[in-house]
Amino acid sequence: MSESIVITRQLPGLQDMIEILPENWKVWISPHERNLRKEELIEKAHDATGILVFGERITEEVLEQLPKLKAITTYSVGLDHIDLEAAARRNITVANLPDEVTYTTAELGMTLILACTRRLLEADRIVRKSNPYFSNSSLICGNNLQGKTLGVVGFGRIGQRVAKMAKAFEMNIIYYNRSKKPDAEKELNAEYRELDQLLNEADVVILCVPGGEETKHLIGSREISLLKPTAIIVNIARGTVVDEQALTEALKEGRIKAAGLDVYEREPRTTPGLVELDNVILTPHIGTTTLEAQLQMTARALEKLRDSLLNRK
Ligand code: NAP
Repeated sequence: MSESIVITRQLPGLQDMIEILPENWKVWISPHERNLRKEELIEKAHDATGILVFGERITEEVLEQLPKLKAITTYSVGLDHIDLEAAARRNITVANLPDEVTYTTAELGMTLILACTRRLLEADRIVRKSNPYFSNSSLICGNNLQGKTLGVVGFGRIGQRVAKMAKAFEMNIIYYNRSKKPDAEKELNAEYRELDQLLNEADVVILCVPGGEETKHLIGSREISLLKPTAIIVNIARGTVVDEQALTEALKEGRIKAAGLDVYEREPRTTPGLVELDNVILTPHIGTTTLEAQLQMTARALEKLRDSLLNRK
């Protein structure tokens, strides 16, 4: 049977890999490099049986207007933009990409940790500011990671991979997670802590929990107040996990040392005042943005969408 597919965005390698989908399937690919707006999605996918989405919000209201839909694949590990219960009620299969993004996202986490501890962007700005540049160690003194404690909040695939990388920098690992992970504890020589204790003890905190209601503002002003004044916090999870206003104020007042953020509470907007701060490093949600990861993700996303539809028959 022929299926009707909508792919909501241009993806790396897509043209070369489209043959992963059976030849007789009808495929519409958005010409845009951005997500489709809600109205565009509804218009283009009205008769679709399968959609490959990027970060578009797939709500009950959207699903109501896609009556033929049987399968959704999202080009991400995160599923917080999809109403999973509404999809299940309609017997729509939902697939994500849990394994393709782990290394690459963890590597960005490690990059942000290093950039914060060695004050990389401040150092870059010193060289650009004047020629000859003026620098001395009190202007740009960083810290070693060696011997410091990394607190991983969310000890799943990405959190454990960051911990593995941090071991190479001779860091000690503590973690907080909703369930304890005895195998990973053994493998990574990691110790469990309750969240408050972890925030109190860690030199660097990295957030690796999923987004959604359950983790909304897991790190709020009370939790931020538990951090050491020398602490660095890195968020590669979802912006909603952190109260961004409270974090901006803490950074501004020097109550913590620095932050590295790849995700934002109201993406793609940032909290007013955040971008003016020197002690924060900001990236535009590039956790999985490497050529290697994206090519792999495109292939797997097409395979998963194809298999979801074929397996339903
Ligand atoms: P994962 O393997 O499912 O790991 C998530 C971990 O968080 C699990 O160990 C889970 O515990 C734990 N957890 C869930 N809810 C919790 C809560 N309320 N309190 C404490 N721990 C909780 O997922 P992953 O592959 O590591 O990905 C994690 C998240 O990273 C994704 O959901 C996505 O939002 C984000 N991400 C961001 C980017 C980016 O571009 N910045 C890229 C990829 C992923 P259990 O084991 O008990 O379930």
